Amino acid sequence: MLNSNGYLWRMLAFVLAITLPVAIVAFWLLDHGQLSPDYIMLLIATPVLPACLLYAKLVRDMRAVALRMEQAAGMSSIEEEPRDGLQASLLPVDNLFLAMQQYRRSLQRMLKEAQSRQDEASLLFDMLPDPVLVLGSERRIRRSNAAANQFFNVSEMGGKLTGFMRNPAFLKAIDAAYEGVIPDQRIEFTIADAIPRHVAAYIVNLKDESNEGLRLIVTLHDLTASRRMQQMRVDFVANASHELRTPLAILIGALETLIGPARNDLAAHQRFFTMMQAQSLRMSQLITDLLSLSQIEVNEHSRPSDRVNLGAVLDGVKGLIKAKSVDLGKCVRLDLPVQPVFITGDFDQLTQVFTNLVDNALKYSRENAEIIVRVVTDGTTVRASVLDEGEGIAEEHLSRLTERFYRVDSDRSRKLGGTGLGLAIVKHIVSRHRGQLEITSVVGKGSAFTVKLPLSDS
Ligand code: ADP
Repeated sequence: MLNSNGYLWRMLAFVLAITLPVAIVAFWLLDHGQLSPDYIMLLIATPVLPACLLYAKLVRDMRAVALRMEQAAGMSSIEEEPRDGLQASLLPVDNLFLAMQQYRRSLQRMLKEAQSRQDEASLLFDMLPDPVLVLGSERRIRRSNAAANQFFNVSEMGGKLTGFMRNPAFLKAIDAAYEGVIPDQRIEFTIADAIPRHVAAYIVNLKDESNEGLRLIVTLHDLTASRRMQQMRVDFVANASHELRTPLAILIGALETLIGPARNDLAAHQRFFTMMQAQSLRMSQLITDLLSLSQIEVNEHSRPSDRVNLGAVLDGVKGLIKAKSVDLGKCVRLDLPVQPVFITGDFDQLTQVFTNLVDNALKYSRENAEIIVRVVTDGTTVRASVLDEGEGIAEEHLSRLTERFYRVDSDRSRKLGGTGLGLAIVKHIVSRHRGQLEITSVVGKGSAFTVKLPLSDS
């Protein structure tokens, strides 16, 4: 605020400014003999008091306005503001002017803050991993985030909600939220699509009845993957028990026969013992594969770090499988590049991958077939393919072959000593190596199982 000295001088100047014209007129009248000298001082003094009162009133009013502006803008004391460019004036408008300047600056700051908060909120809204919709009145979509656009496979959502979701239970829940019957709720439903999607929706009524009408926030949570995982877990336990129960039932039956009716039948003993040995081996193989699968799953996230010569792996596999291939009258041929191919991996696990693939090729190829293992590199990746001349696999099975216990022909697989876990193990090991498994097949001609891996140097 101005100091009292400045205030006094300004008031004197103001009074002078009002009184001066009166004084000039009074002296002019005196000069022309129209005013008696006795009255001249009285005339000049007349406006002094009203001028003082007027000035005080103006100052008071202006200070009140400045104070209001200070309070509205939540600003600092006016004395702290620079007074650049302000001319001294008769009336105390400088306070008012300073307050206006501060008010403008404060408004600009507030606008900037509001803008940056809005930007942050928009970014946050778009970065939310779950689809979120803001609905206005009559189920109109006012806003949707990137996840929602992706969920409904559109670049932007707009119009009525029913253009995207028509599930009756969901729409009923939305209407109940609008009416405030159940303002906040969670509902699960299925979106009928080519692949049905199971979704949980959280609906919140913002209870905002401004000009823009009612607003609902709808968050969707896609449960399809987790439901599928749950189902897979249930199926896995059921399948594993079933796979173990079958040989176990045969073992129990054989034992009962040996203890009972065939107790003294030595010829039957030999037959039953052979059968029991085969079933025990089957159970043992199943448990080995199950343990191996769970072990691989535990380590799947940690990438192996050894430098492995792929040719050495395949030579080893050929040696391991030699006896079986000779027994079956089939041969395995390696078609490798001249230069050794190195990859970053786990020697034993890669051996497991190619043993499984070559073993399958031996099992499911025609008599006297030749199985070729071909390795091709392109500078960054290596493709190792196991090619067989077998019966091939129909298209509809291809995408499911790597599921646990999935077989095209279960009886045949069991008779050949298969557990239905081989390709699942292959897939997990390949994915641990940051690679891909590609399966192509032509019914009646044969199949190609290709493992694509990054080269060690790349
Ligand atoms: P399995 O122990 O039954 O061989 P896998 O997981 O190794 O289990 O293979 C799953 C199924 O894929 C097999 O049961 C078989 O039906 C099919 N399959 C695998 N490899 C071949 C192949 N080379 N040719 C034809 N079918 C194959």
